[in-house]
Amino acid sequence: MNPYDALLQRSREIAVYNSAASLLSWDQETYMPPKAGAYRAEQLSQMAGLTHRLGTAPEVGDWLKACEDKLPATADAEESAMREANVREWRRDYDRATKLPARLVEEFARTTSLSRDAWAQARRDSSFPAFAPWLEKILSLTREQAECWGYSTCRYDALLEGYEPGARAADLTPVFADLQKQLSPLLPALEKITGAVDPARIEGEYPFDLQRALNQEIAQAIGFDFEAGRIDTTVHPFCTEIGAHDCRLTTRYDLKDFTSSLSGTMHEAGHGLYTQGLDAAQFGTPMGTFVSLGIHESQSRLWENQVGRSRAFWAHWYPRAQEVFPALKALPLEEFWLLVNRVKPSHIRVEADEATYNLHIILRFEIEQKLVSGDLAVNDLPAAWNARFEQIFGLSVPDDARGCLQDTHWALGLIGYFPTYTLGNLNSAQLYAAAASHDPAMVNELAGGQYGRLLGWMREKIHRHGRRYSPPELIERATGEPLRATYFLDYLKGKYGLN
Ligand code: ZN
Repeated sequence: MNPYDALLQRSREIAVYNSAASLLSWDQETYMPPKAGAYRAEQLSQMAGLTHRLGTAPEVGDWLKACEDKLPATADAEESAMREANVREWRRDYDRATKLPARLVEEFARTTSLSRDAWAQARRDSSFPAFAPWLEKILSLTREQAECWGYSTCRYDALLEGYEPGARAADLTPVFADLQKQLSPLLPALEKITGAVDPARIEGEYPFDLQRALNQEIAQAIGFDFEAGRIDTTVHPFCTEIGAHDCRLTTRYDLKDFTSSLSGTMHEAGHGLYTQGLDAAQFGTPMGTFVSLGIHESQSRLWENQVGRSRAFWAHWYPRAQEVFPALKALPLEEFWLLVNRVKPSHIRVEADEATYNLHIILRFEIEQKLVSGDLAVNDLPAAWNARFEQIFGLSVPDDARGCLQDTHWALGLIGYFPTYTLGNLNSAQLYAAAASHDPAMVNELAGGQYGRLLGWMREKIHRHGRRYSPPELIERATGEPLRATYFLDYLKGKYGLN
């Protein structure tokens, strides 16, 4: 077998095990009985060990070298380009996995699994000192990982690379600074406009079955294929790919407010549309895999926000929602629309609106860089967090549970992950603006409850490319320019008539 085919076969073999592991994880979050947890952890850890061994075996390095010396020829130029991209991405994965010594991998896995419980308890008690030693340990292991992976100027970049290939802190910093500088002065106006309606007006009784059916109807209308996916219920909503033609969405239900499960569904269905738009024939290879978290998040936010919080969307769907939930007939469309777009600074990131959300990320981006570089000592984290939070949001932080202990990411060792959320927001606005200017008819189509043109544009410009281009290249190819905060700001201003 030639070395390319050997890599292809290995890659697909690993994908089979990974997809079986994804199914086990999905089941764990949805239907698994509580007592099955310990054995499930055993199943998942054995699968992870197996795929790690298969992916880092010495023969993989030999095949890669052979392909890099001379890629087996094909007559088809497109096939050759895909092979080149696959080899480049297999190399990237192989290097990231093999540069870490086994001792570090094991210690990191053990530490983060223990620190997860320590963090959960510390958050319940709102006691940062109980979590501080864990964070100290995680940071020290994370710095060690970054040194193994290598970087050119800044250690944080080695971590960021794991979530957003090609992104550099030095490139993100001015984009985020521009966003913050222009967003902060807008907030009082957005808060005033959207705060005109009492949020209690939407509260009512929204039976689970009716919510679920409406969510499914809307997810199907935007293009999610239920012959190749499904929606279930969970505590923390997510979307996962089980295999080619099998994508699972989850959402959670608030029986007093149907918009919560619906916006969760729109968000996860956006992830699902990306997954379903990948080339199924390339499943198990880089060309058939999503490229980064920031791009994945651009697709979820696009459908959740640009589409799902727009006037056009609700002008079409609100009458249907009123049919399903007749009590909504007492709430006029315009007031309902303001409620689903309510902007209000708050302490908790995951409950934030689409405008203030980014300020939560900017805070974390600043702080985690300082933690990684050592400029901020772990013991000084709560004070630094609270001071900066107050500066940015104008609110004081009442306790650590609503401050630096609120997120699970650092406890899980996910340092360098946060910026991908705001990248998602900025990408989504820039992509939506490019799609709309490329095809003005698309906007009319959306007002009529038709989404095929917008989805088709995303399929063409983003989904089908898999990992062929780095995220910054992909955005530039799709929109004609590098990522800028302007589109997101214009989107917000346009929405409320502020420009
Ligand atoms: Zn998401």
